[in-house]
Parts: sequence; C-alpha cells; structure tokens
Amino acid sequence: MIKIKSLRSYYLEFPLVDPVITSFGVMKSRPCIIVELEDYNRHIGYGEIWCNFPSNGASYRFNLLKSIYHSSLVGCEFSNPEKLIDNITEKFKSLFVQSGDLGSFYNINSGLDCAFWDLFAKNQKLPLNKLLNDESQTHISVYASGINPSESQKKIKEARAKGIKAFKVKVGFNHSLDIDLLNSLSQFVSNDEMLMLDVNQGWTFDEAKGYLKILENYNFSWIEEPISALSKKEKFTNLIAATECNLAFGENIVSFDDFTFLGQNNRSKYIQPDLTKFGGISLIKDLSHTIQNKKIWIHFLGGGVGLFTSAHIMSAINPDAFLETDINLNPLRTNIFENDLEIIDGKVHLGKDFGIGGPLNFDTIDKYLIASSF
Ligand SMILES: [Mg+2]
Repeated sequence: MIKIKSLRSYYLEFPLVDPVITSFGVMKSRPCIIVELEDYNRHIGYGEIWCNFPSNGASYRFNLLKSIYHSSLVGCEFSNPEKLIDNITEKFKSLFVQSGDLGSFYNINSGLDCAFWDLFAKNQKLPLNKLLNDESQTHISVYASGINPSESQKKIKEARAKGIKAFKVKVGFNHSLDIDLLNSLSQFVSNDEMLMLDVNQGWTFDEAKGYLKILENYNFSWIEEPISALSKKEKFTNLIAATECNLAFGENIVSFDDFTFLGQNNRSKYIQPDLTKFGGISLIKDLSHTIQNKKIWIHFLGGGVGLFTSAHIMSAINPDAFLETDINLNPLRTNIFENDLEIIDGKVHLGKDFGIGGPLNFDTIDKYLIASSF
C-alpha cells in the first residue's frame, strides 16, 4: 500500500522573447504547474497540470489545487493508481460542476493522475513505460511544434539541427488559408520529412470544407483541429468523409466516448489526447482498449514533466509514432529535472530511472518560481 505523506506544487513561468501566436490568441509566457506527491517510502511522483491558456489560467488552477485538493490527497492510501483521482475527487466534484468550470477540474485531475502513476511505477521499481509494457523501447521520435507561420523556415532549420524530421506549423489565422505559406513550405520540406498543419479550431465547418479541398493538392501528414472540438458528431463524420486529407483531433476533447467515436472512424489515423489536460494516463490506458494504439499520437505542449510522461506512454503504446515537442526555447521543458531533456537524432531518450525519473532541478524551479505550496 502506498500512502501519501505530502503534496508540493510549483507554479512556474518562463517569459517568452518571441510570443507564440495562435488562431485563438497570443501566448507571452510558458507557464507550468508541477506537482510532487511524496509517499512514506520517500518516493516522489511527478505530474504536470495543463495551464497554457488563458494567460492568468495558471495562477487560477494553482490556487484551486492548493485550496481544494490538498487536504484530500495528503494521507490518502492506494495500491492501484487506475482512476484513483476520480474516486478522491468525487466528494468535491460538485464544486466544479456548480462553477461551470469543469475544464480546470479535468486539468488538475489529469496532472495528479500522472503523478499517481509515476509514484506507483517508482514503488514497483520500474520505468513508467516498462510498467505499462515490459517491451517498451527506450526512445521516442519527436516532431517540432509551436511554429508560427512567419518564422516557419527558421524554426524548421533549428529542428533539423536536432535531427528532427517532422514539423507542425500553425495556420488558420483570420479564418483564412495562407497559400503563399503552403507553397513555400511544400518546397522547403523534403520527401523524407513530415509536415503537419494546425488550425487550432480556427475555421467554421463550411470554411474547413472549402479549404480542405484546396489542401488536397498539397502533401501533408495531417491537418489538426480544422473545426471546433465542440462540433457535433455528425459534423466530424461529415468532414472526415468529405476530404482526402488526414484530419487530427483530440487536444480539446473532454469525453472518453468522443475519443472512442473519432478513433473508431475507419478514416481517422491520428487521435491526440493530452494526458496533462484531460484524463491523464488512466484515460490513455482505457483508450488503448477501444481504439487502435497506432492511432494514438499524444498531444503535448508544456514543461518537461508532462513531456517525459508523454514520452514514456508513447514509447509503451505507440512506439512508431512521433511525440509533439515545442521547438521554442523553454528551460521549464529542457531543464526541469537534474537530467536535462535532450533531443538526439530527433528522439527523446528515456533512461532506466524508475517512473519518469527525477529529481527536480531546483536551480530552474527557483529561477522561474511564481508561487509554491506545501
Ligand atoms: Mg494543436
């Protein structure tokens, strides 16, 4: 039995020199919330809580974690992390339902679910990926994301210097399709590389139908979130059937049934749950039973704890896939642990440390700390 002795959380922010511009707004900093769950065996489980947006969303989630969750987690005992967080939070779930803000509830629960799994793997004395699949490979290829159209060639060159051969560029600004950008990228990206586009829900259904017809003339691996994640199931089915392009969905889906529905569509190849945003590792384990694992390409854009967790899970369930990795400078991603995150030959390499590894690098924590809670 594992018993939680303490919960520590850190709210960190790395100010960006070059803001990331998306179709839904501008991000001027990269925030991150990290939790440390320590047990009586002196193991520490790490989890990251999604908090990229809106700009003050990180402090809001951090305060909710501190004020609502802390007392329910400390002293908690468990022998299996599967959906444990759902049971623990059942008693105060209604607070979030009442507030109308289930999103923050999902985000915090996701990060804590990851921390429980990490703590469990450390108690089992196994790397997290080996806990899920003892034949897991010890690396995962990555693709570069966080690429603005105006600097796409510069960022692709930076990614190539790390051996990365797949790149995702943001499109869909002002409800438009930038043909000049597409033409230049088509020339710039070679046949043995992958190019993906991310609309970030920037088009209406009718716009998407029209633009996808044009995009069929270009060579892309997928086009991500062409329409709102809140679209009705018929719209998704209709859009998938209406185009030759591969569509990718998932980072803003908050229902197991919707993931399963999209994943079971014969034409869908890319389903992108984010384990720091909705459902944690437990959701992905469940999805791996309802949809083909080769379709699960985890979405992630945040700090190093979430990235290492995602890398472990991808290497366990879909080792041939590419994991999303922000290409922009962010020490909260690369220097969050004492062992830096390095991309070599386009891959994140996972060591033999138990769980996702550790400990945290407190030089980085101290430098970018906005608030902490013990
Ligand atoms: Mg996306």
